[in-house]
Amino acid sequence: MLALSESLGIDLWFKRDDLAEPSFGGNKSRQLEYYFGAAQSVGADTILITGAVQSNFVRLAAAVAKSLGMQAVVQLEKRVRVDDQTYQTSGNVFLNQILGAEILHYPQGEDEAGADKALYERAEALKAEGRVPYVIPLSEEHPPLGALGYVDAAHEILKEKGDFDVFVVASGSGATHSGLLAGLRGAGSQATVIGSCVRRDKGLQEARIGRIMTRLAELYDGAEKVQAKDIVIWDGALAPGYGQIGQVSQASMQMVAEQEGVFLDPVYTAKSFAAIPALVEDGKIPQGTRVCYVHTGGLAALFAYHGLMTDQF
Ligand SMILES: *Cc1c(COP(=O)(O)O)cnc(C)c1O
Repeated sequence: MLALSESLGIDLWFKRDDLAEPSFGGNKSRQLEYYFGAAQSVGADTILITGAVQSNFVRLAAAVAKSLGMQAVVQLEKRVRVDDQTYQTSGNVFLNQILGAEILHYPQGEDEAGADKALYERAEALKAEGRVPYVIPLSEEHPPLGALGYVDAAHEILKEKGDFDVFVVASGSGATHSGLLAGLRGAGSQATVIGSCVRRDKGLQEARIGRIMTRLAELYDGAEKVQAKDIVIWDGALAPGYGQIGQVSQASMQMVAEQEGVFLDPVYTAKSFAAIPALVEDGKIPQGTRVCYVHTGGLAALFAYHGLMTDQF
């Protein structure tokens, strides 16, 4: 990223997982490889998954299901309190409809166990009809299969581009952040991995990543090399909360578009990228640092946010 490298005074690279296949890609492509592998190993014919109304995970799971000849049930949580018509119907919601997914609604937005329970109930009903359902659970007490996709990504980046001083990535459910960090430590890299909060504040997210790391160690032994001090969190662009754009994130979106012609999404990558200019400015990312920004995608939601930007265009 030449223009941004020059304006920020660092050596900045993007891992373009926004360009991953299939169907508008993003970080969930790598996570779903492991969930669909597990689903296929039990002969599943239907995938059930929960996410926010504009969830990329849900849309991609529905698309992958269809590509494998499976049905998809998507449960949309009310995680973002906005009535905006475009938010409720465009972007990923529109894509779920085109994909022919069964769409369910869950009235809460902060009850992961409750949302899972509702999905397992739907799965039981499908079983009674002779179908073979597979639930991709939301709550963190399940094995973090998706994180394994980012263990792979860590190894891929090291192989393709060598090591970096600093990695910056979005930290939401934490699968991407914990997988990347564990994969790097497992491969011997001591790079700083900065998880940029998109959902919870620093304290909550730090604890969550720690818990996921413990579960990840049961699937991948590189996770055992991660120490508490390796979990680095920044939450300077989280406000005003999950799925809502603020001044800091809108500015980062415009910065990357204006200088590189690359788009960020309002929910995740606008917030995760914002860590870079902010930490360069206060000297925590020193001049000349070799930085890898992991672009996790999310672009299918961009148009659903037109009416919710802080500064209207
Ligand atoms: C889900 C998502 C994230 C966050 O990833 P987690 O593994 O849930 O932390 C980041 N970026 C995009 C575009 C996403 O869809």
